[in-house]
Amino acid sequence: MAEIIAILNQKGGCGKTTTAVNLSAALATMGRRVLVIDMDPQGNATTGLGIEKNAHDSTIYSVLTGQDHLKDAILGTEIPGLDMIPSNISLSGAEIELSKEVGYHAILDMAMDGVSYNYDYIFIDVPPSLGILTINCLVAADSVIIPIQAEFYALEGMADLLEAIQLVETRLKSPAPIKGILLTLYDSRTRLGRDVYENVKEYFGQTENIFKTTIPRNVRLAEAPSHGKPCITYDEESRGSLAYMELAKEIINLEGGEDNK
Ligand code: ADP
Ligand code: MG
Repeated sequence: MAEIIAILNQKGGCGKTTTAVNLSAALATMGRRVLVIDMDPQGNATTGLGIEKNAHDSTIYSVLTGQDHLKDAILGTEIPGLDMIPSNISLSGAEIELSKEVGYHAILDMAMDGVSYNYDYIFIDVPPSLGILTINCLVAADSVIIPIQAEFYALEGMADLLEAIQLVETRLKSPAPIKGILLTLYDSRTRLGRDVYENVKEYFGQTENIFKTTIPRNVRLAEAPSHGKPCITYDEESRGSLAYMELAKEIINLEGGEDNK
């Protein structure tokens, strides 16, 4: 059965989508069966995995609004073992539509029923807000990865994010523990980078796992989406790709699994 991992932080631009795309591609190249669910109306994970976001009638929007079964919205990608469910701007109207449904927090969770048997990992690329779509992602998830951009305001908003995770656990009885905190756009050579790392350690170090792998700022990671490829296949030797491969190994090792299945 798959582990369902939501990649979230309500801040835009902290590397959620880059992580969803490249971590899942890295795990797939290591022989894991992976599904990415794009829950962001911007559809960046969709484009980044080489899928034309307006070319498909079945999207996560049609799934959440009950027009399609989730399994019918699954598309293959160029990478063997890596599937995805696309999103596009139509999803932006879903918050209001879903809020009228009974049990609206759990619509994604219920839609995912049964799909988990076909995968080792399911990653959810979460939109940059703490609204209904994000709550649906948290209810569906077994755990979360929080990417944090190594910048001055890195921890701003973190209390709200942790409170949302806490409320989903206590009120909706659906715990999604933090699998790890991931430092992104990180440059260990700068004072700022090192300071932010120290602050993150101070904030989370006693209680939560901070991934040993950090993701460097790397231009190849930023270029890859315009070629419709994860960096993992666009430039496998780039520092960005190597970092996401390292992170994939770290995640496999957390399960106590061996690297080459
Ligand atoms: P989010 O999904 O959190 O909004 P993205 O993953 O889309 O963030 O990243 C925001 C922007 O920064 C994108 O243009 C992306 O290509 C770029 N980016 C993300 N991570 C890196 C990195 N490690 N190095 C260089 N550019 C990055
Ligand atoms: Mg994104």
